[in-house]
Amino acid sequence: MNTDIAIIGAGPYGLSLAAHLRDRGVDFRIFGRPMAFWRDHVPSKLCLKAEGFALDLFDPKRQSTLRQFCAERGHPYAPTGVPIPARVFTEYGEEFQKTHVPHLQPHNVTHLSRTQDGFILRLENGKSVVARNVVMAIGIGDFANVPPPVRTLPPERVSHTFAQTDFARFAGQRVAVIGAGSSAVDTASFLHEAGAEPVICTRRPKIWINHPPRKIPLLKLLLTRIKKPRSGLGTGWRSRMASDLPDVFHMLPARLRLRITRGHLGPAAGWVTGQVVRDNKVPICLNLDLRRASMRGQAIHLEFADTEQGTMREMDVDHVFLGTGVHIDLARIPFLDRALVASIRTEDNMPALSRNFESSVPGLHFIGPLAAGSFGPLLRFAWGARFAARRLSGRFRRQAAGAWTRSQPQSRPQPALAQ
Ligand SMILES: Cc1cc2nc3c(=O)[nH]c(=O)nc-3n(C[C@H](O)[C@H](O)[C@H](O)COP(=O)(O)OP(=O)(O)OC[C@H]3O[C@@H](n4cnc5c(N)ncnc54)[C@H](O)[C@@H]3O)c2cc1C
Repeated sequence: MNTDIAIIGAGPYGLSLAAHLRDRGVDFRIFGRPMAFWRDHVPSKLCLKAEGFALDLFDPKRQSTLRQFCAERGHPYAPTGVPIPARVFTEYGEEFQKTHVPHLQPHNVTHLSRTQDGFILRLENGKSVVARNVVMAIGIGDFANVPPPVRTLPPERVSHTFAQTDFARFAGQRVAVIGAGSSAVDTASFLHEAGAEPVICTRRPKIWINHPPRKIPLLKLLLTRIKKPRSGLGTGWRSRMASDLPDVFHMLPARLRLRITRGHLGPAAGWVTGQVVRDNKVPICLNLDLRRASMRGQAIHLEFADTEQGTMREMDVDHVFLGTGVHIDLARIPFLDRALVASIRTEDNMPALSRNFESSVPGLHFIGPLAAGSFGPLLRFAWGARFAARRLSGRFRRQAAGAWTRSQPQSRPQPALAQ
């Protein structure tokens, strides 16, 4: 064995787990570039919808909070009401890594397969590592949802909202942004700023935009907090329960669990970029269901069914942006060996997990959005990283202690590193 535990992915989940394991003295390795998804796929000036207090990464002693980072760097911060730019969150995560996970290996895993008593990871630098346990903390980057009508368009004319962070190149272009959630509205706002001509097309009857924070009298605030308690997932009892009771959620029947996970928090835009919609700076076409897309000369020809009028609508644009969210499906993870994929029990294409985040393949664990089917909406948010890190690090520590007691070695063996 090269290592007892290999963590794949160094975002909020992977880094929080690594910080916990290091603190508990458990042998592990972690692979991936720190905060790569946030640095490469989220526009740096985008203001996150989550409140500041819900954007912490977690070390066990809570030494490195976002509040502390912002105070040290002079960034504006408040637990609520002050939008945190993605750039600040990314820098915070990178700083957290340097402090708590200094031995991270910044290489991607290109292949993961099973051996008789563990796993073998191939890295992009050509090296291999053997691990007894693997924790997949890979986020949502592999799961962009691409609706069937646009799949035949030339790839360079279609972007998912998290595939582009540079909007200047769309200046002067007509761009259809498909979707009604925050990523669609954020993208339309950035395109507008960059001098493009975006139009938002959604099959929904309305675009929901969160309210900016307002000052309200104390008594009203108290009543509001009872009616709509606050949580790291937003306000309201549903969010509060999803945030505080992931173990109860885990005990629910699969059908109910999956229905709640899919339906939790419909699309709603953040109030900062939502301003372009409020100010009517970006045209919005509601009740439009995209049916066909084709090239007509140099233009993209889009055909929509108007579900309110019962008619068809057509539109010619230069580029299409998809704010159509993600579709999590284990089979889409490009580096998982096909035989391994086939042996993982799934529910709605997500791995079915034990209370310790372990899949039906012994030793293979999933945390972050891939665990949302088993533990609920909490795991879709950075806020869920504490729950995952505590639970899994506790389990691994007990496992390591058990092995230690059983074998009673004179000195603890150090894993040999694969070259
Ligand atoms: C535009 C946008 C805004 C969002 N805003 C919020 C918000 O305000 N609050 C919130 O809680 N959530 C938000 N999210 C959701 C966010 O994706 C998750 O909350 C969060 O990133 C989950 O952390 P993670 O560690 O699971 O995933 P990630 O942060 O995506 O980290 C996973 C890491 O794994 C790496 N990886 C993948 N494959 C490999 C491999 N083969 N080898 C090595 N490394 C690999 C990736 O590069 C990535 O860096 C937002 C998402 C988007 C797209």
